[in-house]
Amino acid sequence: MPAAGLPNVLLVILDTVRADRLSLYGYGRPTSPALERLAKRGIRFDEARSAAPWTLPSHASFFTGRWPHELHVGWNDPLRTDFPMLADYMASHGYQTAGFVANLQYCSYDAGLDRGFAHYDDYPFDLVHLRPLRAAILAEFAWNAATWACVSIKLERYNPILHWLLAPERKDAGVINDQFLGWLEHRGDRRRPYFAFLNYYDAHSPYLPPEGTRFRFGPGPRSVLDFLVLVERWKEIDKLRLGQNFIDLILDSYENCLVYLDWRLGRLFVELQRRGAMENTLVIIAADHGEELGDHELFEHGESLYRPEIRVPLLVLLPNGGHAGMVVRETVSLRDLPSTILDVVGLAEDSPFPGRSFARQWQPHGSDRPEDGGDAFSELPAPNPAFPSLGRSPAAKGPMVSLARGRHVYIRNEGDGREQLFDCAADPRELRDLSGVAEGQPVLQELRNRLDRLRATTGKDIDRKSINN
Ligand SMILES: [Zn+2]
Repeated sequence: MPAAGLPNVLLVILDTVRADRLSLYGYGRPTSPALERLAKRGIRFDEARSAAPWTLPSHASFFTGRWPHELHVGWNDPLRTDFPMLADYMASHGYQTAGFVANLQYCSYDAGLDRGFAHYDDYPFDLVHLRPLRAAILAEFAWNAATWACVSIKLERYNPILHWLLAPERKDAGVINDQFLGWLEHRGDRRRPYFAFLNYYDAHSPYLPPEGTRFRFGPGPRSVLDFLVLVERWKEIDKLRLGQNFIDLILDSYENCLVYLDWRLGRLFVELQRRGAMENTLVIIAADHGEELGDHELFEHGESLYRPEIRVPLLVLLPNGGHAGMVVRETVSLRDLPSTILDVVGLAEDSPFPGRSFARQWQPHGSDRPEDGGDAFSELPAPNPAFPSLGRSPAAKGPMVSLARGRHVYIRNEGDGREQLFDCAADPRELRDLSGVAEGQPVLQELRNRLDRLRATTGKDIDRKSINN
């Protein structure tokens, strides 16, 4: 039992939560009071970046410490089995491992993310997931709704029915909480620490909190048309042509989903505290990517490498409660999560995972050389096949790569060769491209070189291994 006495590790991933919409990061609406309370007990990272703007490569990267181009995952390609995985490594060192995932499209066992987890809750057995039945009901309902609209019947009183019929098919945050807490209760030998991974999907489109949830911002959907825009027709409609009332509905609804998720998280941590389960536990809370809400005329994610999709929230609560309330402003990449986790729990010595521990942020006198750190690389080889921005994705022109360092981010499209450079401290919305102005040239050259060097020096060991196999 080599792991006895080592800290538990709880990794919480909030799917599709963009940092700047959280009051945790100063957003005007109180979208994340529970995260703010947790931040007081740990370390808040202000410039954390995901390695990819969509679920599978982002998760695969922070489970392996590899950059996406080393992993060869794609929209239709699951993670291969020839990379050391964090859960596998921790299990081999005596940890109990369990995963509870709500994203059933790209986090389930068939995406390859379950490797190393002795317990993995993904697909539920629930009648509500019988899609054909729902589609039939929906078709019938759409016909009736059109008829009702034609005769100008007021529909508000049917709202609960609309909500039930058009509600997104998803595993609610409450279910993830219950599954995890149930496992924790019955996990057996408590002398062994655990590594648990939770993925919450409540902020992912369609932006519709569960029936009965109070809409905190805005009135919420009130008519058939509102529901159709928000839920059923969201992918294919041209969001740029929507009226302001629909834009408001969409933004309000996304933020209502954030509030709902935050409330559930708050309940989880209150319960963990009540059970005494937060002691000697490393807690990491992050998002796998963000979300475009009309920025750069884009929507959803997997569309670009701009900040709305790549900058993510990140909290680290150390097992001993140290450095509570600390704020880190340096750019970091989620790719370094495996190195960080193993460093904190004391298993870094023979770690097979590349990357640098975040511990350099709270142990600044360590042996790390600052000039080696702070490169946050991200990539997107192809745009979201669901087409949420109707072809406006920059990735439609070719594979995209970016490198953020310090206050700057360099973005390159390898199809048309377009380069962009932004000063994110002065221009957080990335509206002023510095790549064509004189003042940007030294930084542009430096980041371009760093990116090329990083790509030339990573993945070689994997390529050789693949060829040998
Ligand atoms: Zn995701």
